[in-house]
Amino acid sequence: MTARLPTLFVSHGSPMLAIQDSPARRYLQELGNTLPRPKAIVVVSAHWETLGGPAVGLAAQPETIHDFGGFPAALFAIKYPAAGSPVVAERAADLLREARFPVQRSTQRGLDHGAWVPLMLMYPEADIPVFQVSVLRGATPAEHERLGKALTGLRDEGVLVIGSGSLTHNLYEFRGQGIDAPVQNWVSEFGSWMKARLQDNERAALLDYRRQAPHAVRNHPTEEHLLPLFVALGAAGDGATAEQLHTSVEYGVLAMDVYAFS
Ligand code: ZN
Repeated sequence: MTARLPTLFVSHGSPMLAIQDSPARRYLQELGNTLPRPKAIVVVSAHWETLGGPAVGLAAQPETIHDFGGFPAALFAIKYPAAGSPVVAERAADLLREARFPVQRSTQRGLDHGAWVPLMLMYPEADIPVFQVSVLRGATPAEHERLGKALTGLRDEGVLVIGSGSLTHNLYEFRGQGIDAPVQNWVSEFGSWMKARLQDNERAALLDYRRQAPHAVRNHPTEEHLLPLFVALGAAGDGATAEQLHTSVEYGVLAMDVYAFS
């Protein structure tokens, strides 16, 4: 009855995605309807980084965290009231421990905007339980692929695994340009390289993207917004095929790609 869910990498871009119309926003508003309905959702977000090991959010009713500054009041008023999923989250913690990750349990942590902004567009009813797992500050793409692999069993239980980051993410390149500013070449070249490697499932090259991809460091001065992609890749299994579900660029520099792995 339950079709196996793909895993997803979602680019969440600027927090303005929550309230400002764009092709990426419109795409995410359709995406939830195209997938089998999950029993629960785990989001591995760029905005929760931990040292030493992954943290798992166990709150029964996670609060909406407005982890940004300098945006309109309307953004701070948004709440995403989905329930947590402590039972599935405990199961995730067990799987991570079995894979020898030193797991941190957090009963207080809410949902950061890397989780609730895409989810409010994909599942506006907020009626699917959600929990988060952190990314590992300073750890490699390979370690994040391994983290994803540890979570792969959740998919058989109807859990949707979402890595939430941004295909490109250099906030130093914001200079007041508009959302539809011309796309920078160093952004599109990086996006094209990633698309080709993902479609051919060239794992070794992907895990070594920082050396091999064009303009990798310029697109990701720090890695946390790309690391969730490797979690989604790992959770999909070794032979996974990637499908680019959406691509667009905002402000000329923020690639909003969405990928599914199955
Ligand atoms: Zn972000």
